[in-house]
Amino acid sequence: MEAMIRLLLAGYLVAAMTGCAGTGTSAAVPRASSPLPTTSPSTQASTPAPIACSKVATPGVTEGPYFKAGSPAASTLTGPGVAGTSLLVTGHVLNLNCAPIVGALLDFWQADGNGQYDNNGYRLRGHQFTDSQGAYRLETVIPGEYPGRTQHIHVKVQAPGGPVLTTQLFFPGSPRNSQDSIFNGALLMQVSSGASTTANYDFILSSE
Ligand code: FE
Repeated sequence: MEAMIRLLLAGYLVAAMTGCAGTGTSAAVPRASSPLPTTSPSTQASTPAPIACSKVATPGVTEGPYFKAGSPAASTLTGPGVAGTSLLVTGHVLNLNCAPIVGALLDFWQADGNGQYDNNGYRLRGHQFTDSQGAYRLETVIPGEYPGRTQHIHVKVQAPGGPVLTTQLFFPGSPRNSQDSIFNGALLMQVSSGASTTANYDFILSSE
């Protein structure tokens, strides 16, 4: 019975998404009255295997002044004309038992390499959902510093139907980390710089 309900629910979600997809990019933009998308593309019936994690919930930090509701659905935020060095961020969204959360929402926004936010449009803003393994992938640029702030990437993370975690990701060794009152060492990504710069961070949500 439960399996049937899940199948029906998954079918409803797929139908809802398909309906949205046919109306163009603007349909993916949440209404202003709904700051975050509320649908989930999850159609996975089985639970992915746990991933090694600290079992300590990712801390939240301030949203800051530059969040804009209605970001486009996009995992690639960089592109022509975007200032900054390319950066690939990957990771998972997990629960406190280290089990991946399928269909979790991640809504990213950040400054470009010059420390500038796009407050008129949606450059370097976009939301995505974790895949069947609870994984996300963000193609962006390394953000620049701006007055009072070290390098950081803003994000809101939400398990399907769960509370929203608002937090920021930081860069190890960034010279102004120690001077930034918002900086939190628990939010440091693992960054490797070779031919290109990649970073990894697994979010752990305290409730789903
Ligand atoms: Fe910021």
